[in-house]
Amino acid sequence: METPWSAPVTEMLRAGAETDLTSFDRGGKHGFDGDKALGKAYMRERGRHLAELQEKLYAAGRSGESRSVLLVIQGMDTAGKGGIARHVLGMVDPQGVTVSSFGVPTEEERAHHYLWRIEQRLPRPGRIGVFDRSHYEDVLVVRVHDLVPRDVWEPRYEEINAWEQEVVASGTTIVKCALLVSKDEQLNRLADRLHRPDKYWKYSTSDLDERAHWDDYQQAYQAMLTRTSTDHAPWYTIPANRKWFARLAVTELLIDALERLDLEWPEPDFDLAHERARIERLRLTGG
Ligand code: ADP
Repeated sequence: METPWSAPVTEMLRAGAETDLTSFDRGGKHGFDGDKALGKAYMRERGRHLAELQEKLYAAGRSGESRSVLLVIQGMDTAGKGGIARHVLGMVDPQGVTVSSFGVPTEEERAHHYLWRIEQRLPRPGRIGVFDRSHYEDVLVVRVHDLVPRDVWEPRYEEINAWEQEVVASGTTIVKCALLVSKDEQLNRLADRLHRPDKYWKYSTSDLDERAHWDDYQQAYQAMLTRTSTDHAPWYTIPANRKWFARLAVTELLIDALERLDLEWPEPDFDLAHERARIERLRLTGG
C-alpha cells in the first residue's frame, strides 16, 4: 500500500518550544490522507512491519545486544492510554513487551525518590517497555494538586531531562507520546462509560473531580511538553479524539524508533554447515 502520510509523523507531531496546546487540533489527522477504514487497513500492514522489527530487537537481546525501547504514554483520563497497549503492542509478540502502569505511589514507593519505582521498570535488553503513566505524573498530578511545594517539583523538569539522557546513553531509546483528547470528547467518553455495562468498570467517581482541574492540567502538560521534549527523548503530541488515528500515529513512532536501531538478524553462534549436515544425516537415516 502506498503511504497515506504526507510527511513523516516524527516531524509532524514532534513537540518543542513552539508547541501550543491551546490551538492544537485534537481531532485532526495531521498529515494522514485517508479515512478510518483506510487508517485501519494501513495499521494492519504497519503492524506486520512492527512485529518483524520487534522480533529482531528481541533476537538481538537474546544474542547479547543491550538495546531496548521505552514508550512513555501520558494522557488525561479517557485519552486512550490503555488502548495503545492493547491495540499497538497487541500486534507484536507479548513475550517481548512489558507494560507498567503507575498509579498513586505506595508507601514503599513514597519512601524513595520519585524515579526509584520508574527505574525498576525500565525495559531489559531486547524488550519494548510501555509506561501507562510515568515519572511525568510527578510534574502533572503532583503540580496540579500541590502534592509537594513548587520548589520541589520545579527542578524535576531538569532532573528528568538529565536522568533520561543517562537512560538513553545506556541503550534505551525513549519515545514519549502525549495523547491529547479535547474537553468535549472526554465528557462524551465519560458519559459513554455510564451507559455501557462493559464500561462501568472503567468509570471512577474521581474522574469528574479531576476534570474540574482541566485548565490546570493543560498548563502542566504545556510545561512538560516545552521543558522536557529534548533531542535525546522527544515528546510527540498525539491528537486522540480519533482513536484509530492515535493508535496508528503511535505505531509509526515505534516503527521509526526501531528502524533507527538498524537491527540485523543475529549471526548463528554455532557452526551452521555442521548443524545442517547433522539434520541431513538424520533425514537420510530416518532418525
Ligand atoms: P488509570 O486512571 O490510569 O486507569 P489508576 O486508577 O491506577 O489508573 O489511577 C492512577 C492514578 O494515580 C491517577 O489519578 C494518577 O494521577 C495517580 N498517580 C500516578 N502517579 C502519581 C504520583 N506520582 N503521585 C500522585 N498520584 C499519582
